Amino acid sequence: MAPGTSDRRKLTILGSTGSIGTNTLDVIAQLGGRERFDILALTGSGNVELLARQARDVGAKLAVTADETLFAALKDALSGSGINVAAGKSGLIEAADMDAEWVMAAIVGTPGLAPTLTAAHRGADIALANKECLVSAGDLFVKAVSAGGGRLIPVDSEHSAIFQSLERDQRHAVERIILTASGGPFRTATLEDMRNVTVETARAHPNWSMGLKISIGSASMFNKAFEMIEARHLFDVRPEQIEVIVHPQSIIHSMVGYSDGAVMAQLGVPDMRTAIGYALTYPRRTALDVERLDFAKLARLDFEAPDETRFPALRLARTALERGGLQGAVLNSAEEAAFDAFVEGRIGFLRMAEIVEAVMDRMAHLPPAAHMDDIVAADEEARRIATELLS
Ligand code: NAD
Ligand code: MG
Repeated sequence: MAPGTSDRRKLTILGSTGSIGTNTLDVIAQLGGRERFDILALTGSGNVELLARQARDVGAKLAVTADETLFAALKDALSGSGINVAAGKSGLIEAADMDAEWVMAAIVGTPGLAPTLTAAHRGADIALANKECLVSAGDLFVKAVSAGGGRLIPVDSEHSAIFQSLERDQRHAVERIILTASGGPFRTATLEDMRNVTVETARAHPNWSMGLKISIGSASMFNKAFEMIEARHLFDVRPEQIEVIVHPQSIIHSMVGYSDGAVMAQLGVPDMRTAIGYALTYPRRTALDVERLDFAKLARLDFEAPDETRFPALRLARTALERGGLQGAVLNSAEEAAFDAFVEGRIGFLRMAEIVEAVMDRMAHLPPAAHMDDIVAADEEARRIATELLS
């Protein structure tokens, strides 16, 4: 290839209109935007105006809304641009199947699994924000990426921190993975306080600005529960090697403990763009305009043990890890159903974990998944049981 063209990279962003998606576009713009990258596809759901604006800005080839009823609105918004438009699940698959070398998986929840797998099968590098892929499909997902020949690069700040703190030739000496957790908005709340909290208070994360699902998940610590399972599959460690420590300032993003007593940590201000940039340019680092840590201003870092009585999600993650098999898929789907019910005002905050636990117990004896169809079937069954318990 001629000099100057060989380093152009083709990128696709699944979920470009969300919190991770917009941060990804910001990083891409900082690194040279369309001068340096070809953006093949962008996808969103409800916010077609933003999606259309993003697609025009970066000169995307294809824009997809997951919501079929918005196909005409998106087509309208992009008329005269020459940008192709598609909608629905097949549109998401079409986006993932274009030949981008790097795909940001930033759709929220289970709808992200099928398109991310499509990109994995054809060998794209997967920058993984959608942790639900690993929580529900676990080893099958990891195998799909490696069979396709692409790399799986974590974007979740904790897992990016671990990825950065792992010494490649010292894997034998890894003793433990220490996931940090901010503790969320209810870190110091009593169980009684937590019983009656509203969606508005639950979504107000002290340190990070994120989408609704993960913000509520940070308040209930289901997000950390997901991250424990995510770590298990990403780093191939045993469940008992995964620790969680509450660190309210969210400055240490996570740590790796080695058998000689050393602990390697990655620190930074809470800004997802560092992890996104690392996933985009890995294994190189690149300059980014993000706030720098000022240790003198910071003055102190605090740590406390997590409370599994107020945050049963952590205990449920351990149960899922111990039981193995399809329990991750069940935990993920039951939590999504419980989350919907909480957000719609049908159940209280603490009821979410009770529902998840009940569904996990009812589905505790399923054999491990042999195929993705088993994940889909477990997802449907978990939602069916959750709906039954919710009614
Ligand atoms: P968000 O709600 O801000 O954005 C979600 C994206 O998914 C949007 O583009 C939306 O249009 C799209 N989407 C929603 N429903 C869809 C559907 N049914 N089909 C297809 N697309 C759909 O969410 P977010 O906070 O950006 O999180 C995205 C993913 O990244 C989640 O898996 C989350 O756990 C993970 N993550 C987020 C952060 C963060 O800082 N926001 C950090 C770590 C990991
Ligand atoms: Mg995280």
